[in-house]
Amino acid sequence: MWSKSTRTEFLSSMLVLRLVEQAEAALPNECVGFIVRKGPRCFILPLPALATPSRVYVHPDVLLDAAMALDCGGVELVATYHSHPDGTAEPSSNDNLFSAWSYTHVLLYRSAGQWATQIYAWSSSVAATSDS
Ligand SMILES: [Zn+2]
Repeated sequence: MWSKSTRTEFLSSMLVLRLVEQAEAALPNECVGFIVRKGPRCFILPLPALATPSRVYVHPDVLLDAAMALDCGGVELVATYHSHPDGTAEPSSNDNLFSAWSYTHVLLYRSAGQWATQIYAWSSSVAATSDS
């Protein structure tokens, strides 16, 4: 399950600005993507998605292509992110799927017209995983 995290060292104010830009541009729908690191720099990699105001779906082929491109380029996946235009500050049960890609997730949510970010860390202690 996702729980709130205070690990913010990768999330610079510039990165937050870029995330907010993407979340704003995607309105009224959700947006989604990866936060990646190459050397000392983190940047966002928006992913093409089928999105509604309350759901976002990335085709598995798109995800695999993105992950392979990162691997080939020596780029590290730091976190996933998506937005909740309706202001919900908690991940939904569907959002558990993000943990397949990274154990760190940045949720952007909009409250009174302002975007805020909350970082979540994945713990598999409750949801049993198949790591055998
Ligand atoms: Zn969500």
